[in-house]
Amino acid sequence: MDTQREIDLENGLYIAGQFCDAADAGRFEVIDPATEEPLTSVANATAADGRRAVDAAADALPAWSALAPRVRGEILRRAFDLIVAHQEQLATLITRENGKALPDSRSEVAYAAEFFRWYAEEAVRNLGQVSRAPSSGARILVQHKPAGVSVLITPWNFPAAMGTRKIAPALAAGCTVVVKPASETPLTMLALAPLLEEAGVPKGVVNFLPSRHSGLLVGAMLEDPRVRVVSFTGSTETGRRLLRAAANTVVNPRMELGGNAPFIIFEDANLDEAVAGAMVAKMRNMGEACTAANRFYVHEDVHDAFVERLAKEMSSLKVGNGLEPGVTVGPLVNAATRDKVQNLVEDARLRGAKVITGGMRLPGPGYFYAPTVLADVPEGALCLREEIFGPVAPVQRFRSESEVIARANATEYGLVAYVYTRNLSRGLAVCERLESGMVGLNRGLVSDPAAPFGGVKQSGLGREGAHDGLMEFLETQYISVAW
Ligand code: ADP
Repeated sequence: MDTQREIDLENGLYIAGQFCDAADAGRFEVIDPATEEPLTSVANATAADGRRAVDAAADALPAWSALAPRVRGEILRRAFDLIVAHQEQLATLITRENGKALPDSRSEVAYAAEFFRWYAEEAVRNLGQVSRAPSSGARILVQHKPAGVSVLITPWNFPAAMGTRKIAPALAAGCTVVVKPASETPLTMLALAPLLEEAGVPKGVVNFLPSRHSGLLVGAMLEDPRVRVVSFTGSTETGRRLLRAAANTVVNPRMELGGNAPFIIFEDANLDEAVAGAMVAKMRNMGEACTAANRFYVHEDVHDAFVERLAKEMSSLKVGNGLEPGVTVGPLVNAATRDKVQNLVEDARLRGAKVITGGMRLPGPGYFYAPTVLADVPEGALCLREEIFGPVAPVQRFRSESEVIARANATEYGLVAYVYTRNLSRGLAVCERLESGMVGLNRGLVSDPAAPFGGVKQSGLGREGAHDGLMEFLETQYISVAW
């Protein structure tokens, strides 16, 4: 677009406000998932680079945390404006490194920018409290102080938003950060660096370290006692590993982990809305989202009608290179993700599931998989237990409310659930009984910078977004005062 400004493309590490090479000069390639060709290469941060970045963040901390909250807020607000001004370039970059179709990338950039606007406003809402001790007559004074240097580790499925959802609240709270973006999609975060600089973020406050040595790099940073928060979004398995690493220095862990979202449609649901919501909950990001609907439970009275309509919608989607006009479904991010999807569908088929539409990989180059609906999926199928992370909708029938709640809750995950019914009081009662950090009631999308995003059970610890997200980067201090 004419109004959009160009952004500088850099592919070094970004430490203390400078782009630089890795300590051992190592680099790795970033692959375009639509062509399987390398896009470029980026510097591959080592443990030594991690230590240097923590030094930079620790050096920048005193001045940044002492800055007036209003000044920090205004810097964040300028970052919002600059991201919006570069929406098209950032969206194109996301599509090129992640594969998602341009409309999805544009929505992601808008969502990513909103975290800067929201936390520009939250930066000035760090409230404490004073109360009178019930028996001693002392005063209880409570304030919230910046937690300190924070290590932020992000996944490849939302290369912009999973970063800004952590960076913006950390900066609002007065923390400084080292960000390790996913090695599949490091370019979007690197493109953010000059924008943050232009917004007025001082050197060392935000550092970016792409790396293929994730374990060694993050391990070295977590050994440094100046690091006080590790905020991670990714798989439950990697989350468990990071929790173990965080134990040594008792670093505050904030974990956004995997999901296995049930999508429940009662017999009294508005079926048009349920199908539209199902398409969003399943197909936003081609299913590569921890919030993606992973299991559809449909009341037996409306099951056949729902399956037919969902299959019609899924089969009419245009699959292709996400940069092409009209394409709404791009490739999956890499061969491993595509192969996992293929194996889950094969497993369900061998156990007796019916493939209503799709059910196959599409010819390459590019890691394409056809939008798929599976019906009569038997209980043992792996796709009901594991995160699919692809465009596959397994559907099962149910009869009673208590039965479907028990089946929905029968998982180690508890991130999000979706419920469709026209009866709001029934809907709210069902929401309360679901073991889930978030529920979409007659909505297929719950993500909102103003809402607390997060899971229960093995889906995570802590919340991102809302005022809660700010609190994740603050420590409470209580001063007992002889008044
Ligand atoms: P995904 O399945 O989405 O790739 P991962 O949990 O493996 O999920 O990756 C999410 C993020 O965690 C990425 O930035 C990845 O590089 C990083 N990561 C992977 N393994 C480790 C590790 N052992 N320590 C720290 N970070 C890791």
